[in-house]
Parts: sequence; C-alpha cells; structure tokens
Amino acid sequence: MKPRTHFSIWYVVGAFILMSLLQLYLIPPPQAEVPYSRFKQLVQEEKVKEVVIDPNLIMGTYREGEQPPGAPKYFKTVRVDDPELVKDLQAHGVQFSGHYESPWVKGLLGWVLPLLILFAIWGFVFKKMGPGAGVMTFGKSRAKLYAQENLGVTFNDVAGVDEAKEELKEIIDFLKVPQRFQALGGKIPKGVLLVGPPGTGKTLLAKAVAGEAGVPFFSMSGSDFVEMFVGVGAARVRDLFSQAHQKAPCIIFIDELDALGKARGVGPTGGHEEREQTLNQLLVEMDGFDPKKGVIIMAATNRPEILDPALLRPGRFDRHILVDRPDLKGREEILRVHTKKVKLAPGVDLKILAARTPGMVGADLANVVNEAALLAARKNKQSVEMTDFEEAIDRVMAGLEKKNRVMSDKEREIVAYHELGHAITAESLPHADPVHKVSIVPRGIAALGYTQQLPTEERFLLTRSELIDRMTVLLGGRAAEEIVFGEISTGASNDLEKASDIARRMVTEYGMSDRQGPIAFEKAKRPLFLETGYTPPKEYSEETAKEIDEEVRGLVHGCYETAKSILHKNRKALDRIAKILLQKEVLEGEELRRLLTQQEIKALGTGDSKPVREPEVKKA
Ligand code: ADP
Ligand code: MG
Ligand code: ZN
Repeated sequence: MKPRTHFSIWYVVGAFILMSLLQLYLIPPPQAEVPYSRFKQLVQEEKVKEVVIDPNLIMGTYREGEQPPGAPKYFKTVRVDDPELVKDLQAHGVQFSGHYESPWVKGLLGWVLPLLILFAIWGFVFKKMGPGAGVMTFGKSRAKLYAQENLGVTFNDVAGVDEAKEELKEIIDFLKVPQRFQALGGKIPKGVLLVGPPGTGKTLLAKAVAGEAGVPFFSMSGSDFVEMFVGVGAARVRDLFSQAHQKAPCIIFIDELDALGKARGVGPTGGHEEREQTLNQLLVEMDGFDPKKGVIIMAATNRPEILDPALLRPGRFDRHILVDRPDLKGREEILRVHTKKVKLAPGVDLKILAARTPGMVGADLANVVNEAALLAARKNKQSVEMTDFEEAIDRVMAGLEKKNRVMSDKEREIVAYHELGHAITAESLPHADPVHKVSIVPRGIAALGYTQQLPTEERFLLTRSELIDRMTVLLGGRAAEEIVFGEISTGASNDLEKASDIARRMVTEYGMSDRQGPIAFEKAKRPLFLETGYTPPKEYSEETAKEIDEEVRGLVHGCYETAKSILHKNRKALDRIAKILLQKEVLEGEELRRLLTQQEIKALGTGDSKPVREPEVKKA
C-alpha cells in the first residue's frame, strides 16, 4: 500500500531532523568547570568576555587569548548566592545575559517529543495488526481490494444444494441483463440471505452467483466492519456501496453477517456503539439504493436467529435461502466435484463414501478428499484408493466427533424411528396434515431430524378432532422410540411441550373438555403454538386447577395411547421404512406413502372413530 509506506518514511525523516535539532540545543560545546571563587577572580582579572546566567549555572567565555593553555574557550561554574555578581560584572566590562529556555524548545522537549514517540509506536502497532488498519486508511473500504472480477467459480463447483441454486437462478438472470427487468418493471429482491450451518458452501455459492452472472464481486466479512474506531465501520459501508454503484451490475457479499448484524443492544457488553453505527449505516444504504440499478446484496450467516429484526424487514434481507447440510445424494455429488482433479483408483465408489459420511458438510467432504490424496501421496501411490478414503473419513470424523457434530449409528437409528413415528401416525390419522418430507439430516443444534407436514389448505379454524390428531402426531415420535427401543431419549422433549400446550389450551381456552364444558378459564393471550415463557395469572380455584391438570393429562395420555397402537399395528412398515430412511436420509411425502401402501396401513380410528383416509386421497 503506497500511502502508508510514505507515511513511515516521513516518520523516519522527521525523527532525524528532530534529533539534529536536539543535538544543537542539548549537547553543549566543550567547557571546563571552574570553582565559583576562581570565576570571581577571572572576572576581576578581566579575563571574561561574557557570561550567560542561568538559575543554577553560569556559563562564561574567555576573552580572546585569555583562556588557560589547553583549556576550552568556554567554562562554567555552579552559581552561588552572590548579590555582588551583577555589580562585579558591570565593573569589569563583562557582557552578561540571563538564560531563558524558549517555549518552543520547552514545548518540543516536554510535549511534542513524547507525542511523536507515541505516534511512532502507534503506527508500528497498526502495521503489525495487518493491512488496512493503519491510520492513513481511516474509513477507506477494504472492499476495494476484494472487488474480484473473474472468480472462476460456477455452479458446477457447488453441489448438493440444488434447491438453493434453483432459487438463485432468478438473481443470476437479473444480473446478466438488468435492463430487461427494468423495462418490465419486475420486482427484484434487494437482499438475499444465505442461511445454513458452517461449511455448507454459502460463501462458495455467493461467488458462484457472481461467476455465473459474470459480474464483479465485492466481498467483505461482517467482522471487517467492526473496528475499534467509532465511525470507521460506517464509513466502510458507505464506501463499499459507492464503489459497488460504479461497478453495477455487481454483487455485494457480506459474509458472517451475524458479526455485524447482531440485534442491537443485546451484546454481552450491553451494546456496542460502533457496531450499531455500522449496522445503521448498512440499513440506510440498503434503503437508499434502487435495486433496478443492478446491485444485489447477498449475505451469509449460520445464526439467523440473532440477527437484528430490522435487517430482515421487507426491502432489506427479505429473501432467505436455506443452504442445508447435504443428504446422501448431495454428498456424493460434492465428492464428485472435489475428486475431479484427483486421480482415483478404479475401485473407488463415491456412493459408498457418501453413505459413510452422514452429517458431514461440503467443507468436511473437501477435507476428506484432500486428506485421502495426501495419504496416497505419502504412500507413493499412483492413484487414490478406497482405503485412503476410508482412513481419511476416519480422521475427519474423529475431528468432528470432538466438535460434537456427528451422530453415532445408534443415535441415527433413534432419530429415524422417532421421525417415522411422527410420519406414520400423521399418515394414518384422518385429520392430520399429510407428510411432506421426513429427514434425519441434522439441522442446527436442536433438531436432529424433522418431519414436515403440509396443510392441504390454509386453516383458520381447527376442530377438536384436528387438534387431537395433531397431538397424536406430536407424540408419535416418542411412542415409536418406546415401542422399538423400550426406552425414551431426550429428543422428544420439544414434542411433549407442544402436545401438552395444545391439550391445555383445549381445556382452558377452547372449552373442548367434556368434564369442564364450554368454559374458557384463560383468555387467549398468546397466538397458538407459539412458546413465550409467559404464564398468565390463574383466574380459577385450586380445585379447578387440579381438574384441569387431570383433564390435560387425560387428553395427552389418550393421544399417546392412540399413537402407540397405530405404530404397533404398523410395526413392520416402521422397521422396513426406517431401514430405507437410514440409508437415504430423506424421504419425500410421496415416497413415504408409496412405501406405506406397499405395506398396507392397518386402519385405526381416533377418539372420534373416523375411518382412516386412503393414502391416495391425501395427495397435497
Ligand atoms: P460456508 O461459507 O457455508 O461456511 P464455504 O463456502 O466457505 O462454507 O465452504 C468451504 C469450502 O468447502 C468450499 O471452499 C468448498 O471447497 C467446500 N464446500 C462447501 N460446500 C460445498 C458444496 N456444496 N459443494 C462443493 N464444495 C463445497
Ligand atoms: Mg463462509
Ligand atoms: Zn419429534
């Protein structure tokens, strides 16, 4: 960086000049020290030409030729209290003057010098801290360095995230020909937020979008904006946007948005002024520009839940794209991408390797391939063999296990049965929404797997039987665990909470209990199915409270028994489909229904004893 080099050279030059000046002032010419009595004598003998009187010292100059042989021209003596001094000097024609330290020199010594030293240290420290942190780069965006034109990354380099790619296609089309969209007046998203666990390829995907569209890519990390100087981050944001405007169409990519976009005022230190300012500036810039110009802002985060809600409002990062952990097929594709440049031995089967790496993300798989290639190289092999991959997987897996990111086989089995417990009960009950997808690919920290149900139509009202069925489906996961393993894991706690919540509301809010009748004991204060930790005060007696508890317990137990008996009757299907799910990791609703019909679902009524719907009828 040019300006900063100059800067430090000026430091050196400045310091040099200063030193020379100081030398002039500070280092006195050679002089001999004489006792005061001798000095008086010299004055009386008229050997002294002139003196400079200091509060403590008298410096004198001999008259021409009067100095003692071999001695310097100047002498000094320690001043003593002598009221006769001035009179004497006058009497013998000695020029004399007082000495006064000029404020310039004094200031230079006492004030400017330490400051300069401080500056020098400061500059040095910043230089150590890395590029861009220097004083001269105040407010200059580092984005300039990162405005990359030909990244060479395309969608071919990103695998296993087909849904995300599909959603990003529209953005690419727009960036390619912004004019077309402008002419049509179509609505283009301004901000696209890529959400997903670390290492799933969010950064890679953003680069691929730029590569596919052939536009410049401005990338910055959220932590780049958070500087120790107030105002620098905000200036960077301003700079970044103005640069991007000049290069439109282009992409601005903010990686690790959470570092910058944490909800304001909730940090562990109770808020961070600088970060807030930067965030505000980002919001202002995002509001202020017209997406039709062809600038798309992308951001990535693995913690969307901590983002400031203001960032997610319409007109900002309102388009969210999930970049999820890859399933079996996805992992195979990712392995294919990364083994493209690796010489593989004939026996290498990527399908088998994909099956051996559940829970791994793209970055882990890239790591596996790299590790395998290194192992093969170490053994002087001509190509990478299956055994190298197996060893590499074990190594990477061990690393991940330490980080608690892979499930054991036992855990996967439990999760598979648990999710199928939900899915099969949902498919068997007449009032439950059909299953959309069952997955045992872990998501985030809390959910190890999930079963997605799609309501066939939008619902505003729920009947009693629908609520009952919903509870039964929620309890199906735990029921399956109990039936298959004879014991229950902690994985069901969230389900139980939700089921109990529905039951309680049925009794206390909707008047759906036979025993209590149509009385609402609590006002509907919370939206349905939303957990807030708020418990409103009771408006009924202790006795009623007990009855309510019993009623709730009865409802939950009833549903649990229903779930268990459904699963008992479908035990064979459960086992068979669990095997398939463990292998494939994801089952689409249609697939599940097909598998279930092959194995004929045993009909079973709910509390309302309604006939079981045929699976075909349930197509969403
Ligand atoms: P994230 O930003 O989501 O944490 P990155 O994009 O930084 O993940 O991924 C790190 C590396 O892992 C990439 O450079 C790439 O080599 C590899 N990788 C991750 N996901 C994928 C994927 N879906 N397809 C191919 N490679 C991937
Ligand atoms: Mg990243
Ligand atoms: Zn569950």
